[in-house]
Amino acid sequence: MRWYGQTARDLPWRYAPGQHPDPYRVWLSEVMLQQTTVATVRGYFARFVARYPNVDDLAAASLPDVLALWQGLGYYARARNLHACAQVVVRDWGGKLPKTKDDLMTLPGIGDYTAGAIAAIAFNQPVIAMDANIDRVLVRLYAVTTPLPQAKKHLRELFAPLIPTQRPGDFIQALMDLGSTVCTPRQPNCAVCPVQKFCRAFVTQQTDTLPRFLPKTKKPVRHGWVVVARNKAGHILLRQRRGKTMLGEMIELPSSDWDQKSAEKKITPALPTARGMVALPDMVEHHFSHFTLRLKIYRVTTVRKIFADGFWCDPTALGDHGIPTLFKKVLRAAGL
Ligand code: SF4
Repeated sequence: MRWYGQTARDLPWRYAPGQHPDPYRVWLSEVMLQQTTVATVRGYFARFVARYPNVDDLAAASLPDVLALWQGLGYYARARNLHACAQVVVRDWGGKLPKTKDDLMTLPGIGDYTAGAIAAIAFNQPVIAMDANIDRVLVRLYAVTTPLPQAKKHLRELFAPLIPTQRPGDFIQALMDLGSTVCTPRQPNCAVCPVQKFCRAFVTQQTDTLPRFLPKTKKPVRHGWVVVARNKAGHILLRQRRGKTMLGEMIELPSSDWDQKSAEKKITPALPTARGMVALPDMVEHHFSHFTLRLKIYRVTTVRKIFADGFWCDPTALGDHGIPTLFKKVLRAAGL
C-alpha cells in the first residue's frame, strides 16, 4: 500500500489513494477495460463521460448513439449491456449503483470480476476481484504451478485472506498496478518489486516460467457473405443489423447470417441477385472473441436498393454511423 501511495498510475477514472471515487466512472472504466488496454480506453473514457456524465444521462441515451460512441472499442455486447444496465439502475435503484457484489451481479453485463471490482473500488467492500494482472502476481507470489485457468479456484482461496478491511479498493488497484507495470507477463522487473521478499517464484527462480497456461483451443470458423453495393452517385448501401445478434442494432454492409459452419453449405439467407454483381477473389477474415468469421465479398453498382431495409449513405458520412471495424475491413478490401 505504501508502494501504491507513491507510484499509483495517473488514470482518468482514478481518484487519489484514500479518496472516494465516483461509482459511475469506476463501473464505466471496468467495463471498457475488459479485453482492452488502458492506452486504448483513455480516449474512449474521456469522450464517453463528456457525453454521458452520469447514469441518468446514459440511461436516457439512444442505443444507436451509445454504440456509435463505442465504435472501434470492440466487444459491442459491453456497450449494449452498459446501456441496459444504466436503465435498470435508474428504474430499480434510484439512479445509484448498488453497493454489494451480490446486488451488482444481478445487473446486465456485470459478472463476478466486474461486480467485485466495483464493490471494492467504488464502495470499499473487502471482496475478491481478480483480473489477469492479479492472477499473475498471485501465481508468482505463491509459485503456483497449476496452469491457468485451472488454478483460478486455488488462487481465490489464496487471495481471500490477503484482502484488508481498510481500503480494500486501493489494495486491489495496487495489485493491478503491480501486475501491469512491474510483474509483467514477460521479464518482470523484480529488482524494483515491493513484494519481492515474499515472492516464491523469485526465490525459486521461476519468474520466467510462471504462470503456466493450458493450451489454447482453436476458435471455430464461421462463414457468410457481405455485399458492397454502390449507386451511380457513389453512395454505399448500409442497413441496421437485427437486434440480439452479434453487433446487433449496429449499422452494417448487408451481410448474411454468420452461423454457417462451412463455406460449402448453402448460406442463409440466399444472396440476392443483381446485374453486374461480382465476387472478389479474397475473403475478409475477422477474429471475434469466440469465433473467426470469413466473409465472401460481393461488389455491385446498381440503382436498385437490393436490400429493402437498406439506405444509401454518402461515403463522407460513414463516420456518423459508427460502423464496426469488420465492415471497415470489407470496404478496404473492396478498394473503398
Ligand atoms: Fe512478480 Fe518478481 Fe515481484 Fe515476484 S518479485 S511478484 S515475480 S515482480
